[in-house]
Amino acid sequence: MRDDAKKDGINMVFLSVYRSISLQKDIFYSLKSRRNHIVAERAKFSAPPGYSEHGTGFAVDIGNVYKGKLDFEVEFENTDAFRWHKENAAKYHFKLSFNKNNKNVDYEPLHWRYEGSIEALKVFEASNRNLKKLQH
Ligand SMILES: [Zn+2]
Repeated sequence: MRDDAKKDGINMVFLSVYRSISLQKDIFYSLKSRRNHIVAERAKFSAPPGYSEHGTGFAVDIGNVYKGKLDFEVEFENTDAFRWHKENAAKYHFKLSFNKNNKNVDYEPLHWRYEGSIEALKVFEASNRNLKKLQH
């Protein structure tokens, strides 16, 4: 995917991929104390240890340059890298995990989840439809 983006003139870097529970704990609590959030507020921005998609190894945070100023920022959505990814991610079986309509977790244009094979997608989509039925 990154190689294909490069062929289209798009620079894409992977900012964060697999995270152990211990690393997620460090991230969760250091950012919580820096931003002075209570745990419930912090959970809108970062998953508590043991609940992150990064712990599955199927999530990736993308950026457009190495150590760029838009790393982990919502403004990343205004870059060519985001636009390219949004248009092409499905070809590589990636999906945006937390879109603008998500009520529980803040919008994260940088965070994408690998959904695997066509068979796996069918299972995910079916379970999402069932979940929506339960919520309404
Ligand atoms: Zn992420």
